[in-house]
Amino acid sequence: MKAPDFDYVRVPTLAAAFKQLDSGDDVQLLAGGQSLLASLNLRLSQPQKLIDIAHIKGLAGITQGKGLIKIGALTRHCDIETSLLIREKLPLLSMAAPHIAHPAIRNRGTFGGSLALADPAAEWPACCVALNATVVAASRRGERRIAAAEFFQGLYTTALESDEIITSVEIPAPAKGAVAGFSELARRHGDYALVGLAAQGTLLKGRWNALNLVFFGVGDRPILAQAAAQKLMDGEGVKAAQDCIDAALNFSGDDVCSAETRLHLARVLLGRVLGTIKSNTA
Ligand code: FAD
Repeated sequence: MKAPDFDYVRVPTLAAAFKQLDSGDDVQLLAGGQSLLASLNLRLSQPQKLIDIAHIKGLAGITQGKGLIKIGALTRHCDIETSLLIREKLPLLSMAAPHIAHPAIRNRGTFGGSLALADPAAEWPACCVALNATVVAASRRGERRIAAAEFFQGLYTTALESDEIITSVEIPAPAKGAVAGFSELARRHGDYALVGLAAQGTLLKGRWNALNLVFFGVGDRPILAQAAAQKLMDGEGVKAAQDCIDAALNFSGDDVCSAETRLHLARVLLGRVLGTIKSNTA
């Protein structure tokens, strides 16, 4: 199928983008186009006008600030994948990037686009929750910061208002003893995950602290397994943590994978990820 007719405007600045968003037309932002163009072709979305924000200066890049790493919304998946700063400071993102689709998609798709889309099986949203990231959104009304854990509100639903644009994401610099682990199960490499796990915390002298275990592909948004993380921080073993991955987390089933299978796979992934972290830090 081909996309329905639409108008197209390329905006050079955020101010110009805000003006378009406020125009009252049925508009949609276009960044890397790797999800939006597919949804237009499938006629899942039929906006009157696309506002191409891909050429706005200052919205791409990875920088280190005081106590945080800032990733611009237009930073492409491939730039995160190959960034030495990210590899050193936020290895969770380096581990996750190769799982996102295929190189051609990673060359165009953007960090901000993935967060705005809020696909529950996507890698970046789960990583942002695990990393206690903050999403920076801007509009004519100013700028606001939203914790990633509150940003994802449901299936393809975020806390973003219709006049807001994600401009960057701020991620706290890693604490002493920071460790990360990532794994996912998909039918083929590059497919969205059936079940995935992003883990971030500190491990000092065998003691877990500030541990976030975030499952994705299992529900309508990234899911924090707080009880399982607490077991580990209380000094209990992997089995005790796995036993907390239960129906209370409200994993969903579909025609590919039942909720019970997802729970089972999540327990398996938890064991694998914790095992890898432990062997890397031994
Ligand atoms: P676009 O497609 O341009 O936009 C997506 C949505 O976000 C639109 O609604 C747009 O209006 C909005 N938007 C974009 N930027 C902003 C912004 N700065 N502020 C506010 N709203 C904004 N993704 C994964 O995570 N994992 C996968 O395994 C995966 N597999 C894929 C496989 C295929 C075959 C394809 C085609 C895509 C796949 N993707 C996957 C999606 C890909 O990662 C997209 O690049 C990403 O989800 C969207 O980024 P984009 O820049 O292309 O956004």
